[in-house]
Amino acid sequence: MDEACGFSYRSCELCGRACKVNREEGQRGFCKAGTSMHIGRAAAHFWEEPCLSGTKGSGTIFFSSCGLSCVYCQNQMLSRKESGKELGVEELVELFYQLEAEGCHNINFVTPEHYSPGVREAMVLAREKGFSLPFVWNSSGYQSARTLKALEGLVDIYLMDFKYWEGSLAERYSKAKNYPEIAKEALEEVIRQCPELCYRDGLLKKGVILRHLLLPGQVYQGKRILKYSFCRYGNHILYSLLSQYTPFGALDCFPEINRKVFGKEYQRLVDYALSLGIEKAFIQEGESAKESFIPDFCV
Ligand code: SF4
Repeated sequence: MDEACGFSYRSCELCGRACKVNREEGQRGFCKAGTSMHIGRAAAHFWEEPCLSGTKGSGTIFFSSCGLSCVYCQNQMLSRKESGKELGVEELVELFYQLEAEGCHNINFVTPEHYSPGVREAMVLAREKGFSLPFVWNSSGYQSARTLKALEGLVDIYLMDFKYWEGSLAERYSKAKNYPEIAKEALEEVIRQCPELCYRDGLLKKGVILRHLLLPGQVYQGKRILKYSFCRYGNHILYSLLSQYTPFGALDCFPEINRKVFGKEYQRLVDYALSLGIEKAFIQEGESAKESFIPDFCV
């Protein structure tokens, strides 16, 4: 793949962190990942947006390590280090077929940024073999537009987080001050690749879903993200507003987010989305912040 666009394990710039370490020579960057893909879980998942989960589940593949370090991450046992099962490109393709045989509607790569070259190779190989399920790039939003370009024509659905509007918040919770700029550029690029939503039998086959997890006391951030995104992309994308934030990990130093989101906070964000004119949004109802949403990882 074209190293000039940063799509390489050498001088790694695969996520917004741009550590520029040579992972091929054993150096490790912020994510601590090497060059061999590691996964913590591969299974049908029924708690994605309904147009992805359908009746038989989305075929999620959870990768270990992560270029972000969110203090509230629910997958910390997987995201903080390289762990889980190591697998090569051909084994990853085999996994696609296993998930297809289980009836899954799509293949959903969860936090794949730091393994992008390997995942890309697997997608190319699978398509050459005639594999036809949609590929979902389920990203933290912390990936440069330059490297996302290398996925053009392969990824069918981008499921993109937009976590923070302000760099100070991104720095406080994820040690990533440049997150807002990176996420905006990433969104622009994936919408260039998938400008319209396309469905078949009620399931999404192509398009972009923008996800925002509302943090306690941060309705303002959510509103700014929605306003920005809706002004640029209108109803050409889907919006997914998550209320399921659950305090997790050592949050003693972050008392302001050491609680669940109040129902009235979430409602304010939903009302705002409707007032903007957003027509296609996923909204959670009732008590969604349950531990059952945290997958059981085999690490
Ligand atoms: S993928 Fe890992 S090594 Fe590469 S830039 Fe991101 S954090 Fe650094």
